[in-house]
Amino acid sequence: VFQLSMPLNFLGSVYRELRQSLIDMDTMFSLENQKALIQDAPNAKDYIFKGGNIRFENVVFGYHTERPILDGVSFTIPAGNKAAFVGPSGCGKSTILRLLFRFYQPQQGDIYIDDQNVKDLKIDSLRRAIGVVAQDTSLFNNSIYYNIHYGSIESSREDVYRAAKRAHIHDVIMSLPDKYETSVGERGLMLSGGEKQRISLARTILKNPQMLLLDEATSALDTHTEQSLLANFRTILRDTGMTSVHIAHRLRTIADADQIFVLKQGKIVETGRHDNLLKKEGSVYKEMWTKQENPHYFSSRDESEFLPD
Ligand code: ATP
Repeated sequence: VFQLSMPLNFLGSVYRELRQSLIDMDTMFSLENQKALIQDAPNAKDYIFKGGNIRFENVVFGYHTERPILDGVSFTIPAGNKAAFVGPSGCGKSTILRLLFRFYQPQQGDIYIDDQNVKDLKIDSLRRAIGVVAQDTSLFNNSIYYNIHYGSIESSREDVYRAAKRAHIHDVIMSLPDKYETSVGERGLMLSGGEKQRISLARTILKNPQMLLLDEATSALDTHTEQSLLANFRTILRDTGMTSVHIAHRLRTIADADQIFVLKQGKIVETGRHDNLLKKEGSVYKEMWTKQENPHYFSSRDESEFLPD
């Protein structure tokens, strides 16, 4: 039995990794339908988790070299911190996450996770450690159960239910005629954007990654669901000590971050906690906040600049 189960276990783990990297690719690429351009370096090493410290050093990047999107970006996110990137639409927030996940390579500068340069790491080993919840969630044309279970194909039915509960989607699923066997996607049930997002969150919770990237992860939810989900996320992050990087247009959702980075015209122009950024007279952050909290506020800046999409 031992001899037989060894290779089977091994195959199982290869299969799991393959499926996992496919699902993450799918999540990150659903918006743009791009192919992965980056491959492992010849002597690539496995990423070794040491807490999840993330560091950008002078990163310069543009999808086309003649148009830089990030123009010398440096920051450090200590292990276990909750960090957030905010800034005008198109300033490069999602691009930072794509570089971290190694869909692209910086033209200049370096990215380190736990002091390991991501360009020297096996991409699979890096992506296994990182969970992604993106703006636009695409689900498989399969059952709800399958879509969540995918996060960790070794998980039990109870694990799937627990993850669904933490993502606030279990009760919705149980109210459907076929419950977890309900099929979603083209031929199945039409789920709302917020429900799809919660299924994708359940999948990520089940994956239990060592770091979490959330790109407007709660954008499709109503305020009440968003609030309770965010409270839940806070508990998960606190309990696991996971490093998390958030992108948000609605500043309220990241006001409790350990560090907020304000990105503008390819550079980080302000860094700090919510309270400190608000205290700075004339700060970009204060302007964004004031505008969101007082929708009728009028300023001298270009009106369209900070409006959520
Ligand atoms: P938003 O707040 O609107 O989501 P963002 O700050 O996340 O925006 P990014 O998605 O990082 O912005 O995009 C930064 C810039 O790069 C934008 O001007 C965008 O048009 C451009 N861009 C994004 N993806 C690509 C791509 N695959 N090819 C070329 N340009 C791209």
